[in-house]
Amino acid sequence: MRNTSVKMMRAVLVRQFGGSDQMRVENLPIPTVGDKQVLIKVHSSGVNPVDTYVRAGQYKNLPNLPYTPGKDAAGLVHSVGPSVTRFKPGDRVFSSQTTQMGTLAEYACVDEPYVFPLGSSLTFDEGAAIGIPYFTAYRALLQKGLAKKGERVLIHGASGAVGLAAIQIAKNHGLYVVGTAGTKEGIELVLETGADAAFNHRDSKYIENLLEGEKFDIIVEMLSNVNLGHDLTLMKSRGRTIVVGCRGPVTINPRDLMGTESSIIGCALFAATPDEFKELSTQVVKGITDGWVKPVIDSVYDLEKAGEAHDAVINSKGAKGKLVVRVQE
Ligand code: NAP
Repeated sequence: MRNTSVKMMRAVLVRQFGGSDQMRVENLPIPTVGDKQVLIKVHSSGVNPVDTYVRAGQYKNLPNLPYTPGKDAAGLVHSVGPSVTRFKPGDRVFSSQTTQMGTLAEYACVDEPYVFPLGSSLTFDEGAAIGIPYFTAYRALLQKGLAKKGERVLIHGASGAVGLAAIQIAKNHGLYVVGTAGTKEGIELVLETGADAAFNHRDSKYIENLLEGEKFDIIVEMLSNVNLGHDLTLMKSRGRTIVVGCRGPVTINPRDLMGTESSIIGCALFAATPDEFKELSTQVVKGITDGWVKPVIDSVYDLEKAGEAHDAVINSKGAKGKLVVRVQE
């Protein structure tokens, strides 16, 4: 006999790894909150490229099937486990990292360390755009790049979610910022967001133009498989290129690192230690309070169109910020 006391919710479920057509909205039981967990009534879920790698089955750590995609979210606390101390029902929160059942669902259980206060100044769509992009940008610039006030940074791919977050963080830390985008609208957005200069990475001469100017202490690289070879020629003495995004192999000339004693440094948010993650989240939450965390939303999708958002985040050219799924009002 069916248990009528189980409350149900709408959620995207992936039963087999593959294309976005594997993402179907189904009725599932609302998860039961664990001892140290927060059950969030999800209003908005942020779509990140990593969600598509996982859904396609092309990622190191894969969930057991079936699973619900989505790592970032914003919404209201619905209930908390007995050992939760920082949140209570009704709090406005954002979250990043979930368990097996993700945030493309009306309710998501998240471990307390991955839930953060959203405050009252940002919308839920904006809140869902914070987690992975801001934490990664902060890790790249400050924890891996060891950025110092007055240094010059090139954000190679600045018009997307991580890139725009990186501009805001870099400007807040007193860096001189040059960003790239692939369209006129992207360039305008990069400048409006605070970059001091912007170049179009689809212009065949842009690397030449960059080489004519002063070189960079830090490069935050979103597409290393295309750009890493050029990045090595764009660094100053003791420069650091931080590999954030990479979709394949690339040929470089290691000699370009020798004279400048510059470095290539990998960056992965999931590799942050608990202490590092705490620092990331503390600084970004402070940025919300101080008012410099201002997520830029490109497009908002319905839950039924979450598959379109997955396709767009990985295939579209001409990013203008973050893609978000509005799960419920
Ligand atoms: P996104 O919003 O889709 O943005 C992609 C960015 O890459 C856009 O600014 C895009 O610019 C730019 N781009 C396209 N072609 C480029 C080129 N030839 N040279 C330089 N930039 C180019 O994605 P995202 O969320 O910002 O993530 C960016 C990358 O970082 C993805 O590969 C993602 O998987 C990775 N990532 C890594 C971590 C980590 O922990 N390491 C965490 C988060 C994300 P236009 O569209 O204007 O051309």
